Amino acid sequence: TETLSALPQTGEREVETTLRPRKLDEFVGQPRVREQLELVLESARRRGVPPDHVLLSGPPGLGKTSMAMIVAAELNAAIRITSGPALERAGDLAAMLSNLAPGDVLFIDEIHRIARPAEEMLYLAMEDFRVDVVVGKGPGATSIPLEIAPFTLVGATTRSGSLTGPLRDRFGFTGQMEFYSDSELELVARRAATILDIDIDRDGCAEIARRSRGTPRIANRLLRRVRDYAEVRADGKVTRKIARAALEVYDVDELGLDRLDRAVLTALVRSFGGGPVGVSTLAVAVGEEPTTVEEVCEPYLVRAGMLARTPRGRVATAAAWEHLGLPVPAGATR
Ligand code: ADP
Repeated sequence: TETLSALPQTGEREVETTLRPRKLDEFVGQPRVREQLELVLESARRRGVPPDHVLLSGPPGLGKTSMAMIVAAELNAAIRITSGPALERAGDLAAMLSNLAPGDVLFIDEIHRIARPAEEMLYLAMEDFRVDVVVGKGPGATSIPLEIAPFTLVGATTRSGSLTGPLRDRFGFTGQMEFYSDSELELVARRAATILDIDIDRDGCAEIARRSRGTPRIANRLLRRVRDYAEVRADGKVTRKIARAALEVYDVDELGLDRLDRAVLTALVRSFGGGPVGVSTLAVAVGEEPTTVEEVCEPYLVRAGMLARTPRGRVATAAAWEHLGLPVPAGATR
């Protein structure tokens, strides 16, 4: 069943492909990253060399993959796509690297999850456009240096903090993707509605934007769910009233928090008296992986001012108690 979290869902890839911005100027929001990248790309273009390697970091659904594709499009280059977990053996990476054509973009999603041997191979590839292929086993093993085409690596990560120092140092530029403002999300929803031919008014768009947790992937998903509701229960036109009714069916609350967000806050407040509590304990309490709680739920709860990460653990702020409709205990963080 479809949940409304920021992670991509099965079958969503195709819709996402249709809705992806193709060029830098079609990309809504992220003015800082956009400007910084524009400079990196333009300067490389003028010098006639592939740009420095680019790392994009930020919570899921903020447009890292889209941005990687745009980098390739702006460079008129081909893009090869893989992910950290797919590069289990160094051989998998060696095969990808040796198939690159000069100037290609190699995109590695979730690069913080790359296995150690592949990561070490990547160091040399990023720095010298070379891989050392080990032939044979044991004392007779030799390593043969192999030249690869100059390429640009674009890495995406939801936790730049877990990248090793040597890997992080090899990126010439890191773009930190931020949550989107409501008005930016309105533009995202408006654009998607046009592409998908959905009849929606301004207030309908605003309502969806406001409840999208600062995340374009969620805005696009809510738009489709609201469209379903409008078609089945009304005349197909999306108004504020329709949007509100639909989002209630899908358990998205006034602030855009979904079931898991609320489960985390509720556990924190009810089972642990508002904290501090460790993230693994909290994850067990809601039956989720700690990484999901940490990378998907928490960033938005922190930005919404409801959760604080302290050295002693997670703490619910006064806003969290209020949001759950509970009396705020004396001493709660404001
Ligand atoms: P990430 O790689 O960070 O998880 P994606 O690039 O896959 O995020 O983006 C998810 C979806 O959200 C895309 O398919 C696209 O439809 C939409 N999206 C993301 N960023 C933007 C943007 N700036 N403008 C318009 N749509 C966007």
